[in-house]
Amino acid sequence: VFNKRIKQVLGYLLFSLGIYKKLLGKRAVVVAFHRVSDDAIASSINCPPNDFRRYCRFFRRFFDVIDLATLIKHIDSGESIGGKLAITFDDGYEDNAMNAAPILKEMGLPATFFITTNFIGSDHQTFWDIDHGVESKWMSWDDVRQLDNDGFDIGGHTLNHVDLAEVDFGVAQSEIYGCRDRISSELNRSPKHFAYPFGGADQISDEARQAVMDAGFNCCTSCCHGLVSPGDSVDNLSREAITTWHVSPYQFGFEFVHRALQR
Ligand SMILES: [Zn+2]
Repeated sequence: VFNKRIKQVLGYLLFSLGIYKKLLGKRAVVVAFHRVSDDAIASSINCPPNDFRRYCRFFRRFFDVIDLATLIKHIDSGESIGGKLAITFDDGYEDNAMNAAPILKEMGLPATFFITTNFIGSDHQTFWDIDHGVESKWMSWDDVRQLDNDGFDIGGHTLNHVDLAEVDFGVAQSEIYGCRDRISSELNRSPKHFAYPFGGADQISDEARQAVMDAGFNCCTSCCHGLVSPGDSVDNLSREAITTWHVSPYQFGFEFVHRALQR
């Protein structure tokens, strides 16, 4: 209905006039990034560092940015989550440590990094990066440990980025437990949060979701559009992914406020 520029202007008005607060009400936002790089411009899941900084400013200006653990605690205890926002990253790209983490640190913002453990320290090329003609570059375990030491949260995203609804349940289990065990042994602490690969509503089965919780994770997030409402089930949290389709934080903001109105 609206083109992106109009959405951007409407988003600017919704946020700068404070109208978004009323429209979002008691809901929280969990955002999902993938790459933060100047070298992966052709990738649709990239957000260049300068744009990433704009998003971070936007989050800090209009939301109470908290870590995922605090959000989960609030959902469990029934405390208010209205106006809260959590920042997350999927897959484990090297640029997360190189480009995103320094900006987050500078701005004092917490974040969760969901890592595909067999990609870490490898030269594995994903089909989606190959499709876009960009190179997949992964963090090393030293990078991951540095993020952990800096107070960032490290979460699980399976061993090999499999579609947990498509593989046999035995494979799904080993992808979930193997990922947990690798993070535990590398960081000497067990990961608490899990994001399922691809993140579409039909890319995890109920039994795989149960296996995630049985493995000791205390939340499971998707990449389905949507906000988090009080009383939402922590094993099925929606996230709003930021892609190159978004021209600015205000358009992104418009999109999720607009969707929230339609529910
Ligand atoms: Zn992923």
